[in-house]
Amino acid sequence: MNDVKNNLKRVHERIADAAKRCGRIPREIKLLAVSKTRSTNMIVEAITAGQYAFGENYAQEGIKKIAQLAKYREIEWHFIGPVQSNKSRLVAENFSWCHTVDCLRIAKRLNEQRPKYLPLLNVLIQVNISNESSKSGVIINTNALEELVKEILILPGLCLRGLMAIPALKQDKEYQIAIFRRMTNIFNALQKRYSKIDTLSLGMSNDMEAAIFAGSTLVRIGTDIFGLRDYR
Ligand SMILES: *Cc1c(COP(=O)(O)O)cnc(C)c1O
Repeated sequence: MNDVKNNLKRVHERIADAAKRCGRIPREIKLLAVSKTRSTNMIVEAITAGQYAFGENYAQEGIKKIAQLAKYREIEWHFIGPVQSNKSRLVAENFSWCHTVDCLRIAKRLNEQRPKYLPLLNVLIQVNISNESSKSGVIINTNALEELVKEILILPGLCLRGLMAIPALKQDKEYQIAIFRRMTNIFNALQKRYSKIDTLSLGMSNDMEAAIFAGSTLVRIGTDIFGLRDYR
């Protein structure tokens, strides 16, 4: 049962290949293994193969795994699901990163609930890149993003590290790249102004190459590492 190990190897090869084809250094692109719905055994397989950054979507599922895997101290846990108000404390107290901050109310809760004895919580602002009313995220073409950036920067428990997006499902590569490039432009502008901004979280199993071409610094991969998810 070395699937996870082999899959990870293949994903690293794809990252390196995509990076080289657009003149980037593979090391600039971090691999986040999305472990939602996966057993701790599968996560341990990935850890054994050298993977250390894991993403979870559901706070309660995530903290259970964090507790079960506490002995692997090098693991970095990222929260990548929508933050519900009544679950924000679980995120603030247990994760190192939260990719899905999209309003001041949630940012303030995470800030207040982040324990002082832990390092700052790294946060990304989720941008609604395809402007679909059904998806979470700050709408791109307003100054809401600009305002949220300024407001998060003054919260002492949070460290703003960049932006994240989940684009609409589209198979067309050109379309994917064009949408991602809009994110990269905003990211580059932010990075020029604020020194701690270094993370652009874009790209999943089906659009990883397009995201890397466009400038992503972190890809979130579930299916291509662990196989198809079974939600039964
Ligand atoms: C599930 C999920 C992923 C991983 O998706 P795959 O298609 O399985 O690679 C990435 N990002 C977010 C926010 C997710 O919810």
